[in-house]
Amino acid sequence: MMPVVRPVVIAANWKMHTTPADAAELAAAIAKATAVPLVERVVCPPFVSLAAVGRALRGSGVAVGAQDVHAETFGPYTGEVSAPMLAGLATWCIVGHSERRRDQRETDAQIGQKLLRCRESGLRPILCVGERLEEREQGRAEATVVGQLQGALRVVAAGPDLTLPGLVVAYEPVWAIGTGRAARGADAAAMADVIREACSGLGLADASSLPVLYGGSVTSTTAVEFLAEPSLDGALVGGASLKVDEMAGIVARAALTAAARDRATTAAAEAG
Ligand code: PEP
Repeated sequence: MMPVVRPVVIAANWKMHTTPADAAELAAAIAKATAVPLVERVVCPPFVSLAAVGRALRGSGVAVGAQDVHAETFGPYTGEVSAPMLAGLATWCIVGHSERRRDQRETDAQIGQKLLRCRESGLRPILCVGERLEEREQGRAEATVVGQLQGALRVVAAGPDLTLPGLVVAYEPVWAIGTGRAARGADAAAMADVIREACSGLGLADASSLPVLYGGSVTSTTAVEFLAEPSLDGALVGGASLKVDEMAGIVARAALTAAARDRATTAAAEAG
C-alpha cells in the first residue's frame, strides 16, 4: 500500500500589518526569495491589500489567502467581508484564529459556519485550533483542541458525510502566538496526530491526508524543530512572515521536508 504523503504548506499571516503598497512590495520580495519547488506558499494580507498582493504575486506560484470570512453570505453586517466577495481575490482563508476567538468572541459554531461558507465559495480553509496556557497546565490541551474541532465540524455535517475540500488545520497553542515561546516539536506533532484522529472520528473523509500545520512563534531558527516532524506538514507564520529573510529561511527548510517526502513517494511507487 502506498504511504500517505501530505503536501508541505507555509502560510503567512500578516495580521493588521502593511498598507496595500507595502503589502504588494513585501509579497513580491517574499515570492522571489522563496521560489523553491514542492512547497505550497500562501500569503494572507489584510482584506484591503488582497487585490494589490494578488497582482504582485501573479505567475509566482504563491497563493493569496484572506485572514477571515463572515459566517453569512450577505446581509446587514457593517464592515464585514463574506466569502462570495473574496472571489478572484483569495483562494485560501484563515478561519478561527485565536485572536478572533479572543477579540471577537468567535464561537466554534460560528467558525463551523465560516467553514461552510468557504466550502460553498471554493476557498481552502486554514482552521486554527489551540489551547490557552491554563488549559495546557491543567492537562486539558488535547480535550480543548478536540472540543474546538467537534464544535466547528459538527456544524459542517453530523455523521459520515463530512467533506471540506482543501481543509488544512493549524495547531496554534495560544500561549505560543506572538510570545516568542514556541511549543516543542514533539508535542506539536503529537497534537497533529490527535487532530487527525479526532477529524476521522467526526467523519472527515480522508483524515489521514489532512495537512496539519504548526503555528506559534515560528522563525527560520525554530522552523526546523517542526518541519522535521513527519506528523507536521508546515507552518502558519505570524510575526516572522513580515520579514523576507525569515520567510526565505522557513521555506528553504520546508523544501527539504517536501523533497524528502517526494523521494519517499517515488521510492514507494518504484517498489510497486
Ligand atoms: C499567528 O498569529 O498565526 C502566529 C502564528 O503568530 P506568530 O508566528 O507571530 O506567533
